Amino acid sequence: MHVDYLIIGQGITGTFLSYYLIKAGKKVLVIDDGKNDAPSRVASGIINPVTGRRVVETWMIETLLDHAQPAYEDIGEVLGKRLINDVPIINFHTTEQMLSAWNDRLNEGSDYITCVNNTTELERFFDTGVGAHGVSPTFLIDLAGLLSGWRQYLADNNCLLKEYFDIQSLVKNRDGVTYKELSAEKIFFCNGTTSFQYDYFKKLPFAFSKGEALIIEVDGLPQTNIYKQALSIVPYGDNKFWVGSSFEWNFKDDLPSTAFREKATSVLDSWLKLPYKVIEHRSSVRPASMERRPFVGLHPLHSTVGILNGMGTKGCSLAPYFANQLVEHILNCSSITPEADINRFRKILSA
Ligand SMILES: Cc1cc2nc3c(=O)[nH]c(=O)nc-3n(C[C@H](O)[C@H](O)[C@H](O)COP(=O)(O)OP(=O)(O)OC[C@H]3O[C@@H](n4cnc5c(N)ncnc54)[C@H](O)[C@@H]3O)c2cc1C
Repeated sequence: MHVDYLIIGQGITGTFLSYYLIKAGKKVLVIDDGKNDAPSRVASGIINPVTGRRVVETWMIETLLDHAQPAYEDIGEVLGKRLINDVPIINFHTTEQMLSAWNDRLNEGSDYITCVNNTTELERFFDTGVGAHGVSPTFLIDLAGLLSGWRQYLADNNCLLKEYFDIQSLVKNRDGVTYKELSAEKIFFCNGTTSFQYDYFKKLPFAFSKGEALIIEVDGLPQTNIYKQALSIVPYGDNKFWVGSSFEWNFKDDLPSTAFREKATSVLDSWLKLPYKVIEHRSSVRPASMERRPFVGLHPLHSTVGILNGMGTKGCSLAPYFANQLVEHILNCSSITPEADINRFRKILSA
């Protein structure tokens, strides 16, 4: 079997890369083992335009949002599902210092921060601390719907191989690559943390971060907002909510930990006034980079081998934009944003 492009991984990045290539009329085959604890299957799916204690706008957010909205709507149309919803965040502040940092940003004219003047209604559900601010627009992606829907689409169109990709069976030749009985013009690695085990990319400055979340059931809490304090409480359908997350740079394993469960339930116990029940505890490792910028492009020495990875904490906003940019680069030779282009590591990758 010959395809134009072989894609390893069907998380958020492999989904969008295959989507744009198929849309451009290319024949692709995606190989994915469907790991249930891949970060794309553990993430809550938030696109939050502000970040950090200083409440700064996230990198390229305006451009990313402009692209993400129609991208999720378009792929949703193909799948017959609504995949993106505007779900504002309510940020609760526990100290005067936090409240004043947010007020400062509001007064400086942030496009995304809003006032929450009246917290009376929220006091039925939460200890509202010293006050709150809103963040809007904020988007919530139905990742389960996206990943399972696109997986089915790929399978129905003979574009999916549900198996573990073994790099030992990959052979590079003059015209492209072969993998077992398959041949392709190029191969793209979209397989998260696994990509960095391969000789091609192991010199890239990755910095994995472990994240955990609880899935809880709460009756009576409106699914209209994301609620944020030390953790985020994110609508998860029916009466369920996703509660997370942690960011650990040093970790022994990728398994759910007692420490996180204890910390999360302690935050909930002091913040959420409604009774809740923990029904699941999940964890995964984010494919992050030291510079917090993605890795996009073709290997400087091996033009048949490419990567779309390093999405870190922001796969939902970065993946659609950079998948499209990579496809435009391959098909129309357009340029890749320099901060994301793996050519910035040309020297390291060529050594
Ligand atoms: C707790 C948590 C919360 C998060 N919340 C958010 C959020 O709200 N918003 C946001 O934007 N981001 C969030 N993220 C980050 C986001 O999940 C990642 O940026 C994103 O999922 C990375 O997607 P990916 O497709 O690059 O990699 P992955 O999700 O790792 O996908 C890789 C795919 O490749 C497959 N694979 C790997 N190796 C092989 C192999 N050898 N053979 C076959 N298949 C293979 C895996 O099974 C998987 O399906 C969160 C992450 C965590 C852990």
